Amino acid sequence: MTTLNIRIMSTLEIPRTPAEGFTPSFDTRKRVIIIGAGVAGLVAGLELARQGHELVILEAQGRVGGRVYTLRSFAPGLYAEAGAMRIPRIHELTIGYCRSFGLNLRPFVMECPQAPIYLAGRRTTWSHIDQNSDQISFDLTSRERTLGHRQLWLEATRDIRLSIQRYGQAAFRDISERYGDYSIREFLVERGYSEGAIELYGILSYRESNMNTSLIEHLREVLGGAFEDMYEIAGGMDQLPESFLKYLQNEVHFDAQVFAVEQLDDGVTVRYRTHGGVFEETGDYCICTVPFGVLRHFDFRPGLSVQKYRAIRALNYNPSTKLDVYGLPSNTASNLPMGLPEFRT
Ligand SMILES: Cc1cc2nc3c(=O)[nH]c(=O)nc-3n(C[C@H](O)[C@H](O)[C@H](O)COP(=O)(O)OP(=O)(O)OC[C@H]3O[C@@H](n4cnc5c(N)ncnc54)[C@H](O)[C@@H]3O)c2cc1C
Repeated sequence: MTTLNIRIMSTLEIPRTPAEGFTPSFDTRKRVIIIGAGVAGLVAGLELARQGHELVILEAQGRVGGRVYTLRSFAPGLYAEAGAMRIPRIHELTIGYCRSFGLNLRPFVMECPQAPIYLAGRRTTWSHIDQNSDQISFDLTSRERTLGHRQLWLEATRDIRLSIQRYGQAAFRDISERYGDYSIREFLVERGYSEGAIELYGILSYRESNMNTSLIEHLREVLGGAFEDMYEIAGGMDQLPESFLKYLQNEVHFDAQVFAVEQLDDGVTVRYRTHGGVFEETGDYCICTVPFGVLRHFDFRPGLSVQKYRAIRALNYNPSTKLDVYGLPSNTASNLPMGLPEFRT
């Protein structure tokens, strides 16, 4: 049985900056169907359009951006980010596109010391927890009580950080060999931390649902500075996908929900539903940018290999909930465990 030729781009194929782009190839103009107009589909669309290819972008929703979604209609002049809101400094391409579209980037405020938090049955603030780990009712050893969650992580990773300081990215070869099979939790257990300390670290570093995922991936992100010096787009993140759309107005087809992809001898046919019925587009290539949770329901003909289906099924997405509250304290009613902290430092 033949299988669809799905391949993943290597980092060598990705241009370093949006200005650089790919080498234009107008002499070999192709028809490319892109499934999804989230940021991945829009970037693919813009770069292929710059190369002179013919595009059809099929988007299931009535808007571009996918998981970049700014809510705007709840109050005049206000907006809230339902999806992505922070751009890490190391996401050079995203920052490059923002700059080339003239979008205004500003530092993202990561933590507010006075933000109310509800932890282990108590209302308190970040700064209070940071300075008073001993008052947290987690089952910590007396030594762990003297550490905050930040100090705990710094202590646990001391030798790893030293090695990265000394050898740079090359250090990851040895680190991967030693810790490649570890989850974050297993690593902290091996370093001798109690269940209470591991729970504390998971909750306060927002990683509770990731504690059983790869330590190496976590180290690359945290020690690689992925969460330092973040940016946001002043005025709302949806300006990024909207900027792409200005160049792709004629290519994006909204409310077009793809359900089948068929490999032909000389191309590919993509079938989709709209309010008007079922339609299809045929092109030389198809780029599929939908999340794996959607992809697993596609009718691929011929079918993908067993390994690809397994990889698509096995990819784990973490649930994420955002709560936006607006209004003046005097006219806001809520039974959420928020409001003024019970005690102040
Ligand atoms: C709540 C939340 C917060 C996040 N915060 C951050 C952050 O702060 N910083 C950060 O860098 N990342 C963040 N992310 C991750 C980031 O938003 C995503 O990695 C990124 O937007 C994914 O882009 P994408 O184009 O790959 O996929 P998507 O944005 O999911 O785009 C896929 C597109 O395909 C469309 N589609 C789906 N099914 C079909 C179909 N059958 N036919 C046609 N079209 C279809 C969808 O409507 C969508 O437009 C966050 C994600 C979420 C959910």
